[in-house]
Amino acid sequence: MAKKRVLITGGAGFLGSHLCDRFLKEGCHVIAMDNLITGSLDNIQHLFHREDFEFYNHDVSKFVHVPGDLDYIMHFASPASPIDYLKMPIQTLKVGSLGTHNLLGLAKAKGARMLIASTSEVYGDPLVHPQTEDYWGNVNPVGPRGVYDEAKRFQEAMTMGYHTFHGVETRIVRIFNTYGPRMRLDDGRVLPAFIGQALRGEDLTAFGDGSQTRSFCYVDDLVEGIYRLLLSDCADPVNIGNPDEITINQFAEEILKLTGSKSKIIYKPLPTDDPKQRQPNITKAKELLGWSPQFSRSEGLKPTLEYFKDKVK
Ligand code: UDP
Repeated sequence: MAKKRVLITGGAGFLGSHLCDRFLKEGCHVIAMDNLITGSLDNIQHLFHREDFEFYNHDVSKFVHVPGDLDYIMHFASPASPIDYLKMPIQTLKVGSLGTHNLLGLAKAKGARMLIASTSEVYGDPLVHPQTEDYWGNVNPVGPRGVYDEAKRFQEAMTMGYHTFHGVETRIVRIFNTYGPRMRLDDGRVLPAFIGQALRGEDLTAFGDGSQTRSFCYVDDLVEGIYRLLLSDCADPVNIGNPDEITINQFAEEILKLTGSKSKIIYKPLPTDDPKQRQPNITKAKELLGWSPQFSRSEGLKPTLEYFKDKVK
């Protein structure tokens, strides 16, 4: 049987590169595409020697051409951390909207199935807790996070449009906070920020009073959930994340303990529209995909810390 051919946009990014590894392991031919504004070739350096791997340096907001057949398109290109999308608001809006449109057109032309990376940010600062897929969210369209949140909400709408109107096979994963090796140390997210600060002996910067919550999922669990969703027949959005919720203060304490650091926790202003709580309801993923996270935070943090130890100077 011919190998399945998969296009992974954002293939040099944190999640995209892990997806490249997974699809290669599944025996697919992988085409990674990235314009490297937040991704890095370091994440896929180990794949360049392979004949079943190709890399295109391309911005998917512009017309996307891929020669040959495609079975799957995984749309993971986008700046994804708050400081990245604040620095690159227009690129973020374009990759979620124009990029998604281009890729849906490609999926239609190739008869490929397309999975888009949506986000818990579609729920904004949620008034329903834990967040279920039928919650419509509480998003400020013109706030600083609006460039990401609304691009992702548009992306979901566009994807549903191509599904219902053109019959394209589509899948939508709503990804909650995820961590693991290949995150960028300087992407501003709380986990690399705290680990970097702890390893350098600097104070840990909790924003606000640190009482806001997040629920962190290890990357291997996320990739497994995404892979199962792709192979399922569910076109509606599915949350993938780990429901183990903690406050940012507790998380800071945990990182101090893990690293054995003597650093203190200091407090900085809470960014505008920073969600106060976040926890995925994963009933749907459990029932439809037979999926639930396997890695506890202490298990997932070990390889993550090892990865960051090499990066901190
Ligand atoms: N945060 C923090 N200190 C940091 C970076 C982030 O306290 O140095 C907080 C941030 O305000 C938010 C939470 O940690 O409440 C998670 O932020 P992150 O940027 O990782 O992702 P988000 O879930 O907000 O998209």
